[in-house]
Amino acid sequence: MGLIEIEARVQAACERVGRARESVTLIAVSKVQPLERVEEVLQAGHRVFGENRVQEAEGKWPAFQEKFGKVDLHLIGPLQTNKARAAMELFDTIQTLDREKLATTIARLAQEMGECPGLFIQVNTGEEDQKAGVLPREADGFIEMVRKLDLPVKGLMCIPPVEEEPSLHFALLRKIAERNGISGLSMGMSSDFETAIGLGATHIRVGSAIFGERTAPHG
Ligand SMILES: *Cc1c(COP(=O)(O)O)cnc(C)c1O
Repeated sequence: MGLIEIEARVQAACERVGRARESVTLIAVSKVQPLERVEEVLQAGHRVFGENRVQEAEGKWPAFQEKFGKVDLHLIGPLQTNKARAAMELFDTIQTLDREKLATTIARLAQEMGECPGLFIQVNTGEEDQKAGVLPREADGFIEMVRKLDLPVKGLMCIPPVEEEPSLHFALLRKIAERNGISGLSMGMSSDFETAIGLGATHIRVGSAIFGERTAPHG
């Protein structure tokens, strides 16, 4: 279990750039990990987790929360409109808002349910066809549309292309956030979270470096 080592690295990365440790939320990405590994991290006291599939999360987190108490859950994978209600019931934050139809669905459900998870808008900074997220040039308009629906835009999220220098993508995400008055920045994974902290990440999403390599194929 790499939680202690990652905690130390997060702390050191914050110190290097003069940031308070509390300004960065470490999201432990537990998708497809064996339950014993997730339980170890819970046992160690960690309470912020990320999952990328609603159904998979529904299968483990209600039971874990029975046992360990409230956990702060972030959805970091694509959300289908027909799973929006289930996602809103389980997750505290949805980081992958990227379509008008999803935004209007969430707005309607939020009215009905009387509450709404925190929302991050996913930006496809690398403009990759296979990746979700709004394009950088469409981001300002999309943010405005979401705000008109009275939805809480807490932050922006990106997943840079694997073969590119992540810092360029992190800097672009930050620029879009700054000009729109958005404070949350979800960026940085196992291989680049220190770089992301240096560029202002408020949320880092770390999976394999905490839990070990994922054994199942998806994700
Ligand atoms: C799986 C995943 C992560 C974690 O990836 P690691 O490289 O294992 O740290 C972070 N963000 C998203 C969106 C993911 O799907």
